[in-house]
Amino acid sequence: MKAAIFREKGSPLKIEEIPVVRPAGREVLIKIRACGVCHTDLHYLDHGVPTFKKPPIILGHEPSGVIEEAGPDARKLKKGDRVIIPPVFSCGECFLCRTGKENICENMVMLGNHMDGAFAEYLTVSEKDVIPLPDGIPLEEAAIITDALATPFHALKNRADLKPGDTIAVFGCGGVGMNVVQVAAAMGAKVIAVDAVEGKLNLARSLGACETVLAVKGEDTAKKIRKLTGGGADIALEAIGLTQTLETAFGSIRSGGKMVVLGYSSDPLTISPARIMFREMEITGSLGCRPVDFPKVIEMVRLGKIKLKELVTHRFPLSDINGAFDLLRSHDQTLLRSIILL
Ligand SMILES: [Zn+2]
Ligand SMILES: [Zn+2]
Repeated sequence: MKAAIFREKGSPLKIEEIPVVRPAGREVLIKIRACGVCHTDLHYLDHGVPTFKKPPIILGHEPSGVIEEAGPDARKLKKGDRVIIPPVFSCGECFLCRTGKENICENMVMLGNHMDGAFAEYLTVSEKDVIPLPDGIPLEEAAIITDALATPFHALKNRADLKPGDTIAVFGCGGVGMNVVQVAAAMGAKVIAVDAVEGKLNLARSLGACETVLAVKGEDTAKKIRKLTGGGADIALEAIGLTQTLETAFGSIRSGGKMVVLGYSSDPLTISPARIMFREMEITGSLGCRPVDFPKVIEMVRLGKIKLKELVTHRFPLSDINGAFDLLRSHDQTLLRSIILL
């Protein structure tokens, strides 16, 4: 099979011919049909973040596909079944798994990080980690569900504890933030979308944002939101990973409000402990999605509560995977999600 091989930081991926792994036991061999291109991959490619499996490694953790062959002991899936594969597999045995936090499992295995991923024609994994996909959701769009949609779903339902009628300010309307907007709107919240790009705010409005705030350098965005909401949003969610935006997000919530950290940053944050204490503010992190929530996310898509078609803005063949990463690096303002088609 053909696969895009990552060898070292700074060098482009190389398409190579490698053997297919035949499924044993409860494993299934999946013909990959689409795989999302994610900022996480750029951490390995450009920023020297090491993968757990030493290169050479196949990246790609947002795939959809069709079962090509089921192992001898498989009982859940069979040839021809359409599926998505979550980015992270949990062990089911550690303390966190046993307390309903499989998404932060102590022994988590991530596709395209701990093991070879899905920028390849085939992938072999245990059927226990694979999620069946109903008819009616195109495989190309389904790749968006794995990470860019499931991650916002978990953040809003389980971490923000968003309730109908709550006001939420969403900072950053990229591939993940745009899904935060539409899931929050589908859950009955009043959504305020915040971004520095006007075009993204227009799309956010069409996906359910009631209000939009254009973030302009030198202007007080937090103050604008406090004014718009009569004192501050109930919840602010930051989906970019910039300390300055996190501080603005924190400044935009009301007393007793909550900030959800969904973007990744390793830089230190300056937030007043006095304000957290006196105003009973909450700050919470969110990572990925629990296996139990995937069928719920898929059902929201199937019922038409969530739109995916608008979010696949670019498509690339495997042979042009480096072009897809160049586009991601370019900060193209029309880019929400690129999909590698196989
Ligand atoms: Zn991802
Ligand atoms: Zn575990």
